[in-house]
Amino acid sequence: MSAEILIIEDNPLNMELARDLLESRGYRVREAITAMEGIEAIHASLPDLVLMDVQLPGMDGLTATRLLRQDENLKDLIIIALTAHAMKGDEQKVMEAGCNGYMSKPINTRLFHAMIARFLQEKAAKSQ
Ligand code: MN
Repeated sequence: MSAEILIIEDNPLNMELARDLLESRGYRVREAITAMEGIEAIHASLPDLVLMDVQLPGMDGLTATRLLRQDENLKDLIIIALTAHAMKGDEQKVMEAGCNGYMSKPINTRLFHAMIARFLQEKAAKSQ
């Protein structure tokens, strides 16, 4: 079964782009447009990887990540932050919040696929 990826992203165009890229590689995709919706989706059924937009209405993506990491069962969940701010210091904030990686928008298609494949391969290797 192909890996399942949850995209938490409030911008419809970014959502569509990410979904299209992932589906083009055969991944199964689920969507949430707020942090709360995303957290509920994760608790309902654990995805293999989460793409977490940092800037979300209401609860932001880094706060959501910190909340998720408080759950012992979710400490190994792969969370990759998506942020529009390619500013120095962002990566540190993202990693401190508990994300595994960081991707700046606009999405670089080649890097996007490479990063997701790398994390999923690491996950598969660990679970063997
Ligand atoms: Mn956003």
